[in-house]
Amino acid sequence: MDLRHSLVVKPGSRIKLKHLDAASTGTCKSSTEAEQETAKNRIHLGELQQKLYGEKKHALLIVLQGIDAAGKDGICWHVMQAMNPQGTYVHGFKQPTEEEKLHDFLWRIHPHTPGLGQIGVFNRSHYEDVLVVRVHDLVPKKVWSKRYDLINDYEKMLTAHNVTILKFFLYISPEEQLERFRQRLDDPARQWKISESDYKERALWDQYLEAFEDMLEKCSTKDAPWYVIPSNHKWFRNLAVSNIIRKTLEDMNMHLPAPMVDLEKIRQEYHSAKTDPV
Ligand code: AMP
Ligand code: MG
Repeated sequence: MDLRHSLVVKPGSRIKLKHLDAASTGTCKSSTEAEQETAKNRIHLGELQQKLYGEKKHALLIVLQGIDAAGKDGICWHVMQAMNPQGTYVHGFKQPTEEEKLHDFLWRIHPHTPGLGQIGVFNRSHYEDVLVVRVHDLVPKKVWSKRYDLINDYEKMLTAHNVTILKFFLYISPEEQLERFRQRLDDPARQWKISESDYKERALWDQYLEAFEDMLEKCSTKDAPWYVIPSNHKWFRNLAVSNIIRKTLEDMNMHLPAPMVDLEKIRQEYHSAKTDPV
């Protein structure tokens, strides 16, 4: 199974999100089947990440975007737990600080990009600067409209440094979002996440969809593709994201580095009963 082909946004193509079924599960029939496949993917992700960490020839940057409650935190929890925290990290981007606002919009992004051997996840990202910023008129159109090209150039620069970029847009329906908000109300473990502004943002749903559609059309490129993940079903969301990360890492054809020492010599010198001085 390789879900990349069915979920990728072809460069330059426009997706009408309203025509897309957020509850789609592709050819996957049941949650049990999907969860088994996700569990397998997790095992492979762990092994692949060890190779990436050992080899230090590649970096992977995973960008997560989606409306509130779409499941960005869920992906960090369910998919990233497959990997060793040593060599992986998640960075969440919040409202810019006063200092960040004095700089160009990519200034605060760059220090958090993964180095060779690392896998970094952006929970929200530089794309907020063409999403929330656009929908709320935080900067004039003539400023945000130039950012698509700037982002493409920036991502091209990262890929030239062997940073592979995967961008996941988690797509849920407005009904599903409201249902998730309702579940939060009844769940003491998640009540802290509730904010009234999340409800108020719902009034801007159509403006967000338009901003998402432009982002997908203008910034899905061959080297840094956007994938639209139907996310009403969490089990399909987890399957799709874990599958795409796994396939992408497999394509890197990575190998653990060869030993730097003569193993036989080490065995003889330090592991034979005759030579061990202790
Ligand atoms: P959360 O991810 O739920 O913790 O919320 C973070 C908040 O920060 C969201 O409301 C984002 O829209 C907001 N945010 C992130 N980046 C930016 C940005 N560049 N400009 C304005 N707001 C932002
Ligand atoms: Mg929030």
